[in-house]
Amino acid sequence: MRILLHRADGVTEPWVRDFAELLPEAEVVVWQEGASIAPCDYAVLWMPPEALLAELAQVKAIFLTGAGADAILKYGDALPPVPIIRLGDAGMAIQMAEYVTYFVLRYFRRFDDYEQQARSGTWAQLAQHRKEDFSIGVMGMGVLGMGVIDALLPFGFPVRGWSRSPKQVDGVQCFSGAESLGEFLSGTRVLVCMLPLTPDTHNLLDRARLSLLPQGAYLINVARGGHVAEPDLLALVRSGHIAGAALDVFSEEPLPAAHPFWDEPRIGITPHISALTIRTESIRQMAGKIRALENGEPVADVVDRTRGY
Ligand code: NDP
Repeated sequence: MRILLHRADGVTEPWVRDFAELLPEAEVVVWQEGASIAPCDYAVLWMPPEALLAELAQVKAIFLTGAGADAILKYGDALPPVPIIRLGDAGMAIQMAEYVTYFVLRYFRRFDDYEQQARSGTWAQLAQHRKEDFSIGVMGMGVLGMGVIDALLPFGFPVRGWSRSPKQVDGVQCFSGAESLGEFLSGTRVLVCMLPLTPDTHNLLDRARLSLLPQGAYLINVARGGHVAEPDLLALVRSGHIAGAALDVFSEEPLPAAHPFWDEPRIGITPHISALTIRTESIRQMAGKIRALENGEPVADVVDRTRGY
């Protein structure tokens, strides 16, 4: 069995080593532009360059080393009609839960305000927020969104979730579909974006929708930069309608040095690290799925190309 590996960061050696240990029956071939490559059975990649697509003609399945499929589905019909299989958690859900919990507590306990005060040597106790005024709205109740919800529920915040299909989750006010988005947003104090990027969700958080959040709301975007109309968000933060935003993802990454987000103290920036791919855990998951496919068994986390996730 041959596996074609592409790493956008060029760091392939640890991946080859872990595959040798966890799937010793496979030979891993590292993709190099221009090199002639014998046909492979499976491909393991993330954001493949267009030149790689020709090598996918004979693979039985494409494995993504991330949870989102937007970076490959953009190639549309140029992709072979084989299963595209994303990571399902593989150690990312707990990282998302950590990241989002940190920012929710930072805003709720006003640690951002206390940090500002400390910079000017100000000793002043600020009014506490009330939990009942601090509802958390999680957009996307999938593998990672549910991890975030499970982490936040024990704190006693009112938690609401929004998904495409209707759901019932104990302790969570559930909303589904475009028709309920307005009601979901207008009752959400801290909006957490955990959606996949699809044609339906691209630019979803524009001025009109962000304005539905109550005055003094917060945004935590750990999904994709393409979900947010960035100039609209900046205007709403500057106007004070949005009291703060924690952004891990941007429409252009790395975020350009001249981007106005860098100069806005109410916008927290991290470089797409809210949930990193954990290599060994991911390869273990892929190895299990490759063995299942070889045995003709079904596997989880196959991307639905029509839905876009
Ligand atoms: P899942 O596919 O498990 O969950 C997606 C959720 O979004 C589902 O609940 C789905 O609804 C909902 N959804 C999709 N489209 C819509 C829509 N149009 N309207 C309402 N709800 C919608 O994905 P994961 O939880 O595993 O991952 C989510 C995203 O997180 C990934 O696609 C990726 O882009 C991002 N990500 C970001 C990382 C980072 O480091 N910043 C790391 C990893 C992932 P339903 O349940 O009805 O299907």
